[in-house]
Amino acid sequence: MAHIVIVGAGIGGMPAAYEIRELLGKEHRVTVVNATDYFQFVPSNPWIAVGWREREQITLPIAPYLQRKGIDFIAKPVTAIDAAANRLTLGGDQALDYDYLVITTGPKLSFSEVPGAGPASAGGGGFTHSICSVDHAQEFFADYQKFLENPGPVVIGAMPGASCFGPAYEFAFILDTDLRKRKLRNKVPITYVTSEPYIGHLGLGGVGDSKSMLESEMRNRDMKWITNAKTTKVEDGKLFVTQLDDLGNVYKEHEVGFKLSMMLPAFKGVDAVAAVPNLCNPRGFVLIDEFQRSKAYQNIFSAGVCVAIPPVEVTPVATGTPKTGYMIESMVGAIAHNIAADLAGKPATSKGTWNAICLADMGDTGAAFVALPQIPPRNVNWFKKGKWVHLAKIGFEKYFMRKIRNGNSEPVYEKYVLKALGIVRLTEKSKP
Ligand SMILES: Cc1cc2nc3c(=O)[nH]c(=O)nc-3n(C[C@H](O)[C@H](O)[C@H](O)COP(=O)(O)OP(=O)(O)OC[C@H]3O[C@@H](n4cnc5c(N)ncnc54)[C@H](O)[C@@H]3O)c2cc1C
Repeated sequence: MAHIVIVGAGIGGMPAAYEIRELLGKEHRVTVVNATDYFQFVPSNPWIAVGWREREQITLPIAPYLQRKGIDFIAKPVTAIDAAANRLTLGGDQALDYDYLVITTGPKLSFSEVPGAGPASAGGGGFTHSICSVDHAQEFFADYQKFLENPGPVVIGAMPGASCFGPAYEFAFILDTDLRKRKLRNKVPITYVTSEPYIGHLGLGGVGDSKSMLESEMRNRDMKWITNAKTTKVEDGKLFVTQLDDLGNVYKEHEVGFKLSMMLPAFKGVDAVAAVPNLCNPRGFVLIDEFQRSKAYQNIFSAGVCVAIPPVEVTPVATGTPKTGYMIESMVGAIAHNIAADLAGKPATSKGTWNAICLADMGDTGAAFVALPQIPPRNVNWFKKGKWVHLAKIGFEKYFMRKIRNGNSEPVYEKYVLKALGIVRLTEKSKP
C-alpha cells in the first residue's frame, strides 16, 4: 500500500488527485492537502474583478467532491517538507507521511520585489491591485465601484520577472469593454505597462502574428503602452518605470499616474517548497526531469506553475515563460501514469506535451493562441481573434468546473476539442 499526497488543490492539483485515484488500485491511499478549503477557478478571476461573475460561480468546497471519489482531504497549509524523511508538516504542528509527493502549489505572488506594489492583504504595499486570486479580484471590484463614481486614468500590466502575460492583456480588454458598456470609457485613459520587449511577446517570443494583432487591438481601443518596462516602485497613484532599449540600456524614465491599477507580479515558488534542499532553482521552482519527477528526490513529482521552466529567450527586462491550463493538465496526466508505473516496478515513460494554448477573453471578443512546442521554431504557431474565443472561454470555465464537480479525469472537451486543434496531451503512456 502506498500513500500518495498531493499538495495544492488548484488547476493542477484537483485533476492530479482524480487521475491518480482513477489509475491506482484501492489498496493505495490518496490525500490532498490545500491551504484553503475551497477550489477556485483562477482563469475566471478577471471576470470577478469587473462584476461579471460572483465568487460562488467560480469556487467550490473541496472536501465533498474529493470524498465522493475516495480521496482524503486536509485543509491546512504545508509549512515544511522533510524530503529525506518523506514527511510533511501541516499548519506548523501536524505531521503527515507520504510515499509519493505531488507538488502542485502554484505560485507565490512576489509583490515585494517592487516597493509599493500589490494588495496590502497579501503583504504588498497596497497601491496596485492583483487578479491572481479570487480574494484579490474581489478587492479590485470593491475599489472599482468607488472608481466608477469618479473615474480617471488606469494602469494595467506586468511587473519585471512576470511570466503570466495573457491575463494582463485579457484584463485590459475586459475593463475597456466594461467601461464602454457603462459609457465611461471616454473618462478613463488606459496605459498598458509591461516587462515584455514588445506587445504580444507573451513570454513566448511572440506567437504567430500576436505582435501586430495585439498592437492593432490596443490602437483600436485607444490604449497606450510602454514595453521593456522595469517598474521600480509604486506610490499612491503613481507608477515609476524605467524603460530599457533593446540592448538593455536606459531609454526613458516614466512616472505614470493612475487612479486604479492592476499589475501582475513576478512569481516564485511557495516558501515550504522553496526551502527543501536541492529541490528547487533559486526562485523556488521545482527542478524536474522530462517525466515530471524531481531531479533530487525519486518519489517527488511536480506540475503547474510551481515547476521550473527556462525562459524562451533572454529579454532586456526579465520575463518568464507562462504555464497554461492545458499544459498543466498534460503534466498531471504524465505524473499519474508515472506513479502507477513506479508502483508496478516499471520505469516512468510518460511525458506531458508542454504545449502553450491560451484562450484570452476580451470582453466582447477574444484571442486564442497555440504554440506547439512552446520554444520556437514551432510546428503549430497561430494567434487568432474572434467572438468564438469569448464563447470558448466561457465553455472552458463551465467544463472545468463540471470536471471538478464530477471528478472526471479526462472529459470530452480536452479529449476531442484539443484533438481537433491537433493537440495531444501525452506523448507516450506507460501501461502499468
Ligand atoms: C489571473 C490569471 C488568469 C489565468 N487565466 C488562464 C487561462 O485563461 N487559461 C490558462 O490556460 N491559464 C490561465 N492562467 C494560468 C494558469 O492556468 C493558472 O495560474 C493556474 O491556476 C495554475 O494552476 P496551478 O495548479 O499551478 O496553481 P493554482 O491553481 O494557483 O493552485 C495552487 C494551489 O496550491 C495551494 N497552495 C499553495 N501553497 C500551499 C501550501 N503551502 N500548502 C497547501 N496548499 C498550498 C493554493 O491554495 C492553491 O489552491 C491564469 C493565471 C492567472 C493568474
